[in-house]
Amino acid sequence: MWNNPVEPDTAGRSRFFKMQSTGRLIIVSGPSGVGKGTVLKRVFEESPLPLRLSVSATTRKPRTGEIDGVQYWFISREEFQAKRKNDEFLECFEVFDGGDWYGTLKRHVFEQLEQGNWVVLEIDVQGARKVRAAFPDAITIFIEPKSVDVLKERLIGRGTEDENKMQERLRRATEELRFAGEYDHRIVNDELDQAVREFCEILERL
Ligand code: ADP
Ligand code: 5GP
Repeated sequence: MWNNPVEPDTAGRSRFFKMQSTGRLIIVSGPSGVGKGTVLKRVFEESPLPLRLSVSATTRKPRTGEIDGVQYWFISREEFQAKRKNDEFLECFEVFDGGDWYGTLKRHVFEQLEQGNWVVLEIDVQGARKVRAAFPDAITIFIEPKSVDVLKERLIGRGTEDENKMQERLRRATEELRFAGEYDHRIVNDELDQAVREFCEILERL
């Protein structure tokens, strides 16, 4: 249905840039547990801008309280690979070693951009690189912790991962933090109100 805009494809790109003349693409990354979801929830509540969260597909199991189609589309590995083969993802990666797949669905993102909305992609550093390479006008924001110890405390406090998964997330976190310099903006999520304010200010300045 859509041309794959991640490939060097002139028609796909010009269509995208036309869409971007109304909507905007905002990429948010940061290690698991840093508070991306928490900050974004507040930004969505408080910002007057037409923000829409891109709901990714994932093969990971829902956490208690997570609802299909709200935080993610929770799908099987088979369904995920079928969508991948069918070119339905703007980007997709196996974010954690030997673990689960996550991917941004093209259809939802493009529909929202065409309607003039500002689409927020909450994706890992690999996905961010891929989307930014294809769409340099995307705005990129990295959310970081005050320290790795704080991150660990938050992951423990959230209590959603078993010991193995938490160790893998912490290992991945130290890798991800090295990419922070590639982003247009960096926000330290120490005090929540301050992080939300900084995020909203970045968007308002656009
Ligand atoms: P992410 O979406 O980046 O994986 P979450 O939004 O789930 O992270 O936050 C991880 C944990 O940290 C949650 O328990 C959340 O309540 C807590 N948290 C988020 N931001 C802050 C903050 N600024 N101060 C203290 N705790 C926070
Ligand atoms: P969680 O399982 O904690 O919700 O997310 C784990 C990691 O996957 C986070 O770093 C998050 O940004 C990333 N992620 C979520 N959705 C996507 C996606 O569609 N694409 C990519 N590349 N990463 C994603």
